[in-house]
Amino acid sequence: MVEPADRLSLYRRFRPQRFGDVIGQDLVVATLRRAVAGGKLGHAYLFAGQRGVGKTSVARILARAANCLAPEEGEPCNRCESCRRILAGQSLDVVEIDGASNRGVDQIRQLREEVAYLPAGSQRKVYIIDEVHMLTGEAFNALLKTLEEPPPHVLFIFATTEPHKVPATVLSRCQAFEFGPIGEEAIARVLQTVAQAEGIALAPGAAALIARRSRGALRDALVVLDQLGHAGEVTEEAVVDLLGIPPLSLVDGFLDALVGRNADGALTAVGELSARGRDLALFLEEAAGRARDRIIAGEAPLIPIAQRLIEVRGELGRAFSRRLHVELAIVALCGPPQRRAVPPSPVPHVGEALPLRNPPRAAPSAAPQQVQLGAPAKEKQSPPGTAWEAMLAAILEERVSVAAFLHPAEATWADGLLTIRLPEDCGYHYESLREPAVHGYVEGMAQKFFSPLLAVQLVWAGGTPKPTLEEGARILAEALEGTILREGTDGNR
Ligand SMILES: [Zn+2]
Repeated sequence: MVEPADRLSLYRRFRPQRFGDVIGQDLVVATLRRAVAGGKLGHAYLFAGQRGVGKTSVARILARAANCLAPEEGEPCNRCESCRRILAGQSLDVVEIDGASNRGVDQIRQLREEVAYLPAGSQRKVYIIDEVHMLTGEAFNALLKTLEEPPPHVLFIFATTEPHKVPATVLSRCQAFEFGPIGEEAIARVLQTVAQAEGIALAPGAAALIARRSRGALRDALVVLDQLGHAGEVTEEAVVDLLGIPPLSLVDGFLDALVGRNADGALTAVGELSARGRDLALFLEEAAGRARDRIIAGEAPLIPIAQRLIEVRGELGRAFSRRLHVELAIVALCGPPQRRAVPPSPVPHVGEALPLRNPPRAAPSAAPQQVQLGAPAKEKQSPPGTAWEAMLAAILEERVSVAAFLHPAEATWADGLLTIRLPEDCGYHYESLREPAVHGYVEGMAQKFFSPLLAVQLVWAGGTPKPTLEEGARILAEALEGTILREGTDGNR
C-alpha cells in the first residue's frame, strides 16, 4: 500500500475507518461484522473485486476489529491502544504486503517463519497481501502449507483484482468475498459529502459525470475531485475538459433527437463533438450508458436505440471514417434529415440536396416524421415531393448506401414513369444505381410509393463515369459533409 506521501489525498483522508462508513459493500461488511462480533473469524479471507472499490480499506478495518480491545458490535473502536497503534502504522502485528513486488518464494518463506511466532502485543497477527494473484507458483505453494494448518493467532486477508489467477488450492482455504462496483448514485453522494467537508462547490452535473466515468471505483472518483477541487469550484465543464467526456445535456439532447427521429438534432450533436475533437467512441459509450439509465427510468422507446448505439460503438474499430459511420447510423435510425423544399427542375447540388451540416433549423419535432404515403398518385405531373421523401426514408431503413446514392438526385413522376436525375458530379451514384440488382430494388420500392408505376428511369447529366471503390467512399463521406463539397466545387462546376 505505497501511496504518495507528499500530499494527503482526498481518498486517503476520507478512507472509511469503520465498517459502517464503507460505501457500497453492505453484504460483505455485514457478514464480517457478524463474524467479529460472534468471535467467529476465519483464518483466511479473499477479497475479490475491481480496483478502487474498498478492498484494502475493509481489510484494514478488519485488522483493527480483530484486535480491538473494546469492539462495538463488530466495529473497531479506533480509540483503544491496539486500534491507535494500527492506525498509526506502528503495530508489528499487522503487516501489509504488496503481492506485485514481493512475489517470490523467499518472501513467503520468511512470512511462514514469522507467522509461527505469537503476536507482539495483539490477539492476532494479520497479514494483508494485496494483488495476491501476482505471487509466483512457488510462493503460492509455500503459502499453502501455512494455510493448511494456520496457527490460531493468524489472520490472512488476500486482496485481488483477478481471483481467477489465484490457485484453486489457495481459494478453497479462504472465505471469499466479492466486492462489486459501487453504484453511480452512491459515488455521487460521497463526492458531494466530501466536497462539502472540503468547502468545494461541486455542481450536481459534475458529480454525476465523475461518478459515471469512475465506473464503480470510488477511489478514481475521489482522485478526479482531488484534481479539480483546488479551485474551490467544480463545474460540469471542468470535468468535461479533464476527462474529455461529453456533458450530460449534450448526451440527453442527442438521445432526445434519436427518440424524436430528429436526424438534424442528432447530427448536429455529432458535428459539435467532432468540431471540438472529441472521441466519438467515448461519446457513444456515454450515450449508451445514459440511455440505459433512462430505460430503467421507464423510457422504453430508447431500448432499440441503446442496442444500436452499442453495436455502432463496436463497429467503429473497422470504420474507415468514425464520424461517417456514426452519421450514417443516425440517418438510418431517424430517417433522412429535414430537407428544404423539393428542389425545382434545375439539378440540385449535392451540398444543397443534403443539408446535413447546416440543416434548416426547424423546431425539432418530438413525434416521428409524418409521411404521406401515396399522395402524389392523384397529382400527376407534379413534383413527387412527399412520396419521394417517404420512399427515401423507407430505403434508408433497409439500405443506407442506396439511400445515399439517391440523396443528390432530383425526381419527377409523370405518366407512370419515375425519372431519377443525377447531377453531373454524381457519376458514381449513377453507375451504382444502374447495377441491375440495385435498380430492381429501387423499382420495387418505388412501386410501393408511386402508383401506377410502369418504370424507373435513371438519368445522369454527366459524361462517362469512372467508378472506383475510393470514389464511392468519398461520395458517401462527402454526402454527409455537404459544406466541404460545396466549398471545394463552387468555383469550377
Ligand atoms: Zn479498538
